[in-house]
Amino acid sequence: MRFLEKIFQTFSSQVLPTACIACGLFQKLSICEKCLDLLKADGLLNYECCLQCGICLEVPELNERRCAQCVNNPPYFDNTYCLDRYAGILQEGLHQLKYQKRLAFANGLASAWNQTIADQFIDQHANYLLPVPLSTEKLAVRGFNQSWEIAQRICCASHITKSSYILRRDHYSEHQAGRSFVSRHHSVRGMFYIEPMYLASLENKVVIVFDDVMTTGATLNEIAGILKDNGVSCVINWVLLRTSKAT
Ligand SMILES: [Zn+2]
Ligand SMILES: [Zn+2]
Repeated sequence: MRFLEKIFQTFSSQVLPTACIACGLFQKLSICEKCLDLLKADGLLNYECCLQCGICLEVPELNERRCAQCVNNPPYFDNTYCLDRYAGILQEGLHQLKYQKRLAFANGLASAWNQTIADQFIDQHANYLLPVPLSTEKLAVRGFNQSWEIAQRICCASHITKSSYILRRDHYSEHQAGRSFVSRHHSVRGMFYIEPMYLASLENKVVIVFDDVMTTGATLNEIAGILKDNGVSCVINWVLLRTSKAT
């Protein structure tokens, strides 16, 4: 199926115009060269960010290469790498994917990742790449997991196994949007679990967790905590878009 999709994409990119996922310009690529240049020049990937949580560092934090929050209260995950800010040029494309269910935008978002940040990770030592899961109920409503749709299409070393079956999420009915930083931390407790048949395979492994948006880091921290409780030695977050510091 993926093979056929690739053939179709190659064919359509040659003969059909398409709209850039960032600026909407009709041309041949899912993200146009001008928008790619913008990302390469000013995307969050160019900035000095906290090695652990990916937030843009303040000047006094530069030496440590970690933000004050990670120094004072380290999260369970070890590293975080983000392509761009949430408020940047890819936000609308991600909304089209998530809320308008336009699956083709996953190609453009993955293409933006592959042409900017992917090279940095070509030698990444890791065993698994797992998307942040949706609950079965949410998956049924949306029809797909946007993080998995992007994660499937991003380039990474061939020894890294991508899987959407290992990490699972219980249904949670209260809507998180608009809740405070503190209450969000409580709201994700106990939501995630590991599919029992995969538990043994995670022992002493390095796991990359892929998320479309990182806000407070509470969700990714909960996932990293569960992975580490079950023997994972290192958890690395790959994130498409990062919001700025919680206030
Ligand atoms: Zn564009
Ligand atoms: Zn940090």
